[in-house]
Amino acid sequence: MSNATSVAPARVVLDWRKGQVSSQPAPCVLCGRPALCRSPGKDVPCHKGCAEAWITCRARNRADLARLIAAHTPGTSQGAAS
Ligand SMILES: [Zn+2]
Repeated sequence: MSNATSVAPARVVLDWRKGQVSSQPAPCVLCGRPALCRSPGKDVPCHKGCAEAWITCRARNRADLARLIAAHTPGTSQGAAS
């Protein structure tokens, strides 16, 4: 049940239901287009889809992926070191 496909990156889906939404659009830190969403982790303007794509590209392995997802999801404070 584990040898599915080669090394296709896991699809990242962030839960930003607890994230902030501003009434003022500001340039997304990733794509530069106006965004109302604020990254829950850093409180910067950022599209959820952009953050998901960024994490997908950034993660070097599954542990890294899990760490990045946790770091950018509000309410998940597991292993909050450094
Ligand atoms: Zn964006």
